[in-house]
Amino acid sequence: MLRNYFDYYFTVIFCCVTLFGTNVVHAEQIVVFSARIEQLIKPVFDVFTKDTGILVKFVTDKEGALLARLKTEGKNTLADMLITSDAGNLWEAAREGLLKEVQSETLEKNIPDYLRDPQRQWFGFSVRARTIVYNTQKVKSSDLSTYEDLADPKWRGRLCLRTSKKIYNQSLVAMMIAEHGEVKTEQIIKGWVHNLAIDPLSDDTKAMEFVAAGKCDVTLVNTYYYGRLIEKNSALPLAIFWPNQTSTGVHVNISGAGIIKNTRNERAAIKLLEFLSSKKAQHLFADLNMEYPANPEIKPDPIVSAWGNFKHNQMNVAITGELQTTAVKLMDRAGYR
Ligand code: FE
Repeated sequence: MLRNYFDYYFTVIFCCVTLFGTNVVHAEQIVVFSARIEQLIKPVFDVFTKDTGILVKFVTDKEGALLARLKTEGKNTLADMLITSDAGNLWEAAREGLLKEVQSETLEKNIPDYLRDPQRQWFGFSVRARTIVYNTQKVKSSDLSTYEDLADPKWRGRLCLRTSKKIYNQSLVAMMIAEHGEVKTEQIIKGWVHNLAIDPLSDDTKAMEFVAAGKCDVTLVNTYYYGRLIEKNSALPLAIFWPNQTSTGVHVNISGAGIIKNTRNERAAIKLLEFLSSKKAQHLFADLNMEYPANPEIKPDPIVSAWGNFKHNQMNVAITGELQTTAVKLMDRAGYR
């Protein structure tokens, strides 16, 4: 990843093509800081470069490290775009003044309101649904209904959860606070904690493995982790349930991007954002990670479609950033570690 960045410096200095000994042409290129891993972005960038001739250099790292670096580099940054896998992080980048407002009819047409920043500083390109996964040998789908119902005493000793330290759960709780207020949400989270079969787990996959092994009966995960696990072992007694279908809908988050305020390549960066919302890129961006396209015109991958249709919670995903600190404090008070 560092190599890519230094390559960029090298290329900026030396990337000139001398034509007939007189004209000097700079190849257009942009630099992307990405919290999405290389396997999920490089194939998309390759198609973009093929279609437009614009080269894409990228650096991958954790969200926190990328944000810290953008803040330190300030006006000197060579980054043109930031990609993250949660709206909360993009919201934070915008709050820190690191992103730039983008006016684009293409983006406004292709990406629904609730999946982009009302201030136009970031846009979602894939949808990640955080839903219930249950053990099919121990639970009937008719026993399940809502996220809130998992606080009911009937689930005592039957729930597994990923740690509250992960932003995915902070975003889910932030959305619940927006819907129910802090008092009711705290009661619900306390109910979850009471119902835990074991201490919170480090990741979604582990939580599902415990459910499959019968150590607990239900958990909450992003569906692409379910897809990956079932791809490896289709015999696992696990199934997806879509909660809150008669009320608010399933909690969704985004993987998305914004343009860096100090970009020197705004035109090319906007082109890449618009490309990411297009049919061709949407298929790649979402399908590579078994996520849902953000552009509603595009159908999900057949494996993902087979999990069934569901109603999204259409509250703007910016709420996950706005209420993140409140959510973290609330989870702490409720004893959710
Ligand atoms: Fe993830």
